[in-house]
Amino acid sequence: ITISEQLKQTVDKYPDSEALVVPYQNYRASYREFWQQVEEVAKGILAYGVNKGDRVGIWSPNRFEWVLVQFATARIGVILVNVNPAYKASELKYALKQSEISLLIMSKGFRQTNYVEILDEVRASCIRLKHIIVMEHDWNSLLEAGKKVSTDDLLTREANLQFDDPINIQYTSGTTGFPKGATLSHHNILNNGFFIGQRLKYTEKDRVCIPVPLYHCFGMVLANLACITHGACMVLTGEAFVPDTVLQTVQNEKCTSLYGVPLMFIAELNDPNFDKYDYSSLRTGIMAGASCPESTMRAVREKMNMREVGICYGMTETSPVSTQTFVDDNEYRRCATVGKVHPHLEIKIIDPETGRIVTRGEQGEFCTRGYSVMLKYWNNPEATASVIDEGRWMHTGDLAEMDEHGYVKIVGRIKDLIIRGGENISPFEIEEFLHKHDDIKDVQVIGVPSARYGEEVMAWIIPQQGVTLSGETLHNYCKGQIATFKIPKYWKFVSEFPTTVTGKVRKVEMREISAKELG
Ligand code: ATP
Ligand code: MG
Repeated sequence: ITISEQLKQTVDKYPDSEALVVPYQNYRASYREFWQQVEEVAKGILAYGVNKGDRVGIWSPNRFEWVLVQFATARIGVILVNVNPAYKASELKYALKQSEISLLIMSKGFRQTNYVEILDEVRASCIRLKHIIVMEHDWNSLLEAGKKVSTDDLLTREANLQFDDPINIQYTSGTTGFPKGATLSHHNILNNGFFIGQRLKYTEKDRVCIPVPLYHCFGMVLANLACITHGACMVLTGEAFVPDTVLQTVQNEKCTSLYGVPLMFIAELNDPNFDKYDYSSLRTGIMAGASCPESTMRAVREKMNMREVGICYGMTETSPVSTQTFVDDNEYRRCATVGKVHPHLEIKIIDPETGRIVTRGEQGEFCTRGYSVMLKYWNNPEATASVIDEGRWMHTGDLAEMDEHGYVKIVGRIKDLIIRGGENISPFEIEEFLHKHDDIKDVQVIGVPSARYGEEVMAWIIPQQGVTLSGETLHNYCKGQIATFKIPKYWKFVSEFPTTVTGKVRKVEMREISAKELG
C-alpha cells in the first residue's frame, strides 16, 4: 500500500491518540487532527502547480511543518527531497540542482543567518525552481492557497498513486564523500518503518522521543514511519540537539522510546543535569547510524531505564534498516551486535574481491537484497550500477561478520580498514578496547600514512572532563591486552571530533588533518 493509505488506516483506528507533539512550537495533534492538517498542506502544495513526480525540497530543521510536508507530499505523489538544514549555499545548490527541484519549502533555520543571499544564489542556478515557501512567513499563505484547491483534485491524485512510485530522495550523510541522492518508493520506506516498529513492539501507547534529524532516514523512517504504522506518537525535541532539552522532553512527555546516534547518547549520559530527570517512562529506543560502543549501550540500559533498547544497522540506500536487535535479546546480543536480518529481506556476507560467501565468523562485505533496496541514485546511473549488482544485491561497503545464530556485527567500513604492513586492522576492535578505559569519554581510531608500513594506527581521544591523559599511559594500558601491531603509534587528544550534522564522525576529515599534521 502507499504511505497515504497506511496513514488513513491508522487515523481510522486511533483517531484520538496523539500523533505529533512539538513542545518548542506549542504544537500537539491527534491522528484525526494530523490527517486534517496534512490534507490542508497537501492542497496548499497543489496550489503551487506541482504534478506527480515533481520534486519538492524541504530544507529545515525539525519542526511540525516538516512532518506535515512529509505526509502531504506522499498524499499527492510528488517526490520529497530531504535537504540537510546545515547545508551552506554550495551544497544546497548541488542538491537542489541535482534533483531539479520545482518548489522549495524551508525554514529560516537555526544556523542560517544569511539565508536570503543563499536563496538568491540558489534561484539563479536552479532553472526549474519556481517557488520558495519560508515557513516563518508564508505558511499561512500556503494554507490559504490550498483552500481554493478542490478535495476532488486531491483525491484524484491520491487514487493515481502506485505503491512503488518514487516518493523521496534522501541524500546520504556524506560521511565518506559527497552525499548521494537515494531514490526511495512508498514500498521501500513504509515497509521498513513497519518492521522497525514491529521489532520494538510499538503500539498506540508508545511515545517516541526524536532528537535525530528528520531530513535523515533515522528521523523520517525509523521514527516517523515506525510511529504512523503502529499508531505511536512522534515527539520532537528541538531544532538543534541540546542534551538537557532531550532529557527534559523524555520526562515531560513521558516518552517510552528514545533515539540517537552514539554521540547523542554519550552527550546525554555526560550532561551535568542527567540526574535531575525521571526516566521511568522509558522502555526502549534505538542507537544507530555509526558503530555503537558496547559500554554506551550498557550505560543507556542501566541508567536511563531503557531495558529494551536496541541497535539497528542500515544505510540510506536500503530504506535504511537491514538488521535489528529484538526487545528480548540477551545483554550481549543487544549491546554488542546489530541484531538479525529483518523479515522479507536477504543478507549475505561476501569476500569483496571474489564474491564468495564467507563462513560464519569470518569478515566480509555486507550485502542485502529485497524490498528495501532503493530504486536508484537520482540522476546517477553509474553510481547506481557501482553498488547494485545484476542480481539486485546492494553492496554496502561495510565490513561485517555473522555468528551461527544469524547475529551480525559491523566491523567498520571497508574504506576505514587500516592496512599496516600487509596486516588488516579493524579500527572498531581497538576503539571497543579503549572505550573500556574509565578516563576515556570517546575514541576514534584511523590509519595515517607511513613510509615504512603503508599505514600506521592513530587514536584520537576525548578524555573525560578534568582528566589529563598521555600517550604513554594509554600505550601501557594496551600492552599485553591487544596485539602489539594494533597498539596506536600516535595519540591525539581533542575535545571533539569532526562530524556530519547527523553526528557521525568524519574519519575522512580526521585522516586529512592527521596526515597534514604528521607531514
Ligand atoms: P555517505 O554514504 O554519504 O558517505 P553514510 O554512509 O554515513 O554517508 P548513511 O546512509 O546515513 O550515510 O549511513 C549508513 C552507514 O552508517 C552504513 O553504511 C554504516 O557504515 C553506518 N552504520 C549505520 N548503522 C550502523 C551500526 N549500527 N553500526 C555500525 N555502523 C553503522
Ligand atoms: Mg554510505
